[in-house]
Amino acid sequence: MILVFAENQKGKFKKTTFEAVTYGKKVAEKLGTECVALVLGNVSDDVAALGTYGASKVYHIDNASLNQFDSQVFANVIAQAVGKVGANVLVLSHSSTGKSLTGRLAVRLNAGSVAGANSIPTTDGDFKVRKNVFSGKAIAEYQISSPVKIISLMGNSIPPEETGSPASVENLDVQIPESRIKVKEVKTIEGTVPLPEAELVVSAGRGMKGPENWGIIEELADVVGATTACSRPVADTGWRPHHEHVGQTGVAIRPNLYIAVGISGAIQHLAGVNNSKVIVVINKDPEAPFFKAADYGVCADLFDVVPKLTEAFKKYNASN
Ligand SMILES: Cc1cc2nc3c(=O)[nH]c(=O)nc-3n(C[C@H](O)[C@H](O)[C@H](O)COP(=O)(O)OP(=O)(O)OC[C@H]3O[C@@H](n4cnc5c(N)ncnc54)[C@H](O)[C@@H]3O)c2cc1C
Repeated sequence: MILVFAENQKGKFKKTTFEAVTYGKKVAEKLGTECVALVLGNVSDDVAALGTYGASKVYHIDNASLNQFDSQVFANVIAQAVGKVGANVLVLSHSSTGKSLTGRLAVRLNAGSVAGANSIPTTDGDFKVRKNVFSGKAIAEYQISSPVKIISLMGNSIPPEETGSPASVENLDVQIPESRIKVKEVKTIEGTVPLPEAELVVSAGRGMKGPENWGIIEELADVVGATTACSRPVADTGWRPHHEHVGQTGVAIRPNLYIAVGISGAIQHLAGVNNSKVIVVINKDPEAPFFKAADYGVCADLFDVVPKLTEAFKKYNASN
């Protein structure tokens, strides 16, 4: 049995949740078993709809004490669910929630785990799954031989597929431990898609000269429907907020499109973005290392190119 922890945020499922269920279904098909999903807390989205992504049943523990994420409580409840449904593979999203649960669950369940996997496991005799390592420069294959196996799935590794029909929804009888954490305040960034989930990203670096010039980046991002990001020195000097910093020491992303404006492409920056599907680089220095990683490059002054690109997108949007 494959159990997918179907993460929700404020009662809504994220794209990465649908990817995880789709993945769980594919793993179940390979192992000749079923895929079921687990939802915790009150949810406004249609829980049964997880069936369309491949869950044959959804276990929904519809309890308000699970509305606020607490890794200790969630790990405890998910571990109970694994035992109750008899799951031998547990799939989570490799989100910040999934990352904080995978290790805890591996200890609780005495399970081998692969965090950030991006392939369907091979199941011919051995259970092996791959993930990118060394900042995407190499692929490692891990064999899990424990009876219970845990995989957290890297976002954007497989597209969500709606091939099934709504699933039946059932409660699962578990003990919910009391949280030892008292949450005083939750601050969230509203309005844009969070960077780890963004499919389109417009990012800018020190070539922008100063924070007062970011209007052209925001306008481009707005027209494309992208989330904005930046290089580390830009965040360090306070030109942009720290949550926009991508790279080795910032957020690692893998969007479908990454437009890098006035960023040199240092190895530490590339470490967090080189898994993007398509990379477009705008830089006036033909020797900028980023051009080596780019699918498309524009060697020109960004203050010239970016407004023209925005205009071109506006025209394109108007004609479509
Ligand atoms: C341990 C460690 C961890 C690090 N982690 C990260 C990280 O996570 N993320 C990260 O980003 N960096 C990280 N760095 C820093 C990294 O090494 C680089 O210094 C940084 O990425 C450079 O930022 P930048 O490209 O914006 O600036 P610069 O290197 O100054 O590059 C600016 C670029 O803009 C171009 N440019 C200038 N003017 C224009 C114009 N008018 N039109 C077009 N192009 C123009 C220039 O040709 C240049 O290529 C780390 C460094 C260390 C040592």
